[in-house]
Amino acid sequence: KPRVFSGVQPSGGLTLGNYLGALKRFVEAQDSGTETIYCIVDLHAITVWQDPAKLTHATRELAAGFMAAGIDPARSILFNQSQVSAHAEMAWVFNCVARMGWLNRMTQFKDKAGKNRENASVGLFAYPSLMAADIMAYHATHVPVGEDQKQHLELTRDIAIKFNHDYGVDFFPVVEPVIEGVATRVMSLRDGTKKMSKSDSSDMSRINLTDDADTIAQKFRKARTDPEPLPEAVAGLEGRAEARNLVNIYAALADTTPAAVLAEYGGQGFGAFKPALADLAVAKLSPLSAEMARLMDDPAEIDRHLGAGAERAAAIAHPILERMFEIVGMVRSR
Ligand code: ATP
Ligand code: MG
Repeated sequence: KPRVFSGVQPSGGLTLGNYLGALKRFVEAQDSGTETIYCIVDLHAITVWQDPAKLTHATRELAAGFMAAGIDPARSILFNQSQVSAHAEMAWVFNCVARMGWLNRMTQFKDKAGKNRENASVGLFAYPSLMAADIMAYHATHVPVGEDQKQHLELTRDIAIKFNHDYGVDFFPVVEPVIEGVATRVMSLRDGTKKMSKSDSSDMSRINLTDDADTIAQKFRKARTDPEPLPEAVAGLEGRAEARNLVNIYAALADTTPAAVLAEYGGQGFGAFKPALADLAVAKLSPLSAEMARLMDDPAEIDRHLGAGAERAAAIAHPILERMFEIVGMVRSR
């Protein structure tokens, strides 16, 4: 039976990239009737320094964002990772299954550790083991993510395969990444070669779901572009990363294709296209941010949802964790 799992880090506020690459598709999976489990991965967030008060706030704000986008905590399981101890426990075992060489190849570690790798946390290096545990603790079969997480999902598959092989079992399923749509990799508004990220130091690089209409308009107006008008066809976006990014964002927000966007705007300059894009983004995002703000008025209610979700999550994960420990040979006597 298919079971969807995915997570988002409370390492900042939700961005347009998170919305189009993840959240929007989380809602589609839920609404298609599949069993869906969504996790605010606070243990992942602290792989880089998080101010405690900001972490608390970001966790609640993410939960509000999920619910505002259409995640129904009665139909989906919505919780924060640290409230279900199975994630950290299973991750330890996976740290002993995964190989240094595998983790050494992870581009997210290289990007986030930067030049000073000696000073990166051990947790940042081991991040993919914890992500594998997130997924395997539920025997999830499908994981909707943005393009940037593809390499980590392949590692999750490698860990599942090696565990099954080493212990001679057929216990962990081999997961399918679900990476679809025109906005699986929304790029930074300042640099068309970098993905949009909630933890980017430049706020101008991203659209936050909490940005007001003026801020959204200003960020698109200042977005980096080339001086050429938009091409008439998608092939004309070749080598124009920034132009392609804005066209893809428009297409994803309007639920249409880049070709259809160019059929309408091809030949026009960014002076005309950027304000149209900003208007569309405001129309789509402002109901969402208004609902987020409303939900944030009652943090205790958000915490109750997360607690109830954690209980339901633990009820699934705990037996799977126990079975894994048995397979490994750990004595279970209580
Ligand atoms: P951070 O900078 O802290 O890593 P992030 O913006 O990359 O934050 P994550 O919590 O790491 O967000 O990822 C949450 C989900 O959003 C993942 O499924 C990821 O693939 C997706 N995602 C993140 N950034 C983008 C993007 N620019 N375009 C499309 N999907 C994205
Ligand atoms: Mg990320």
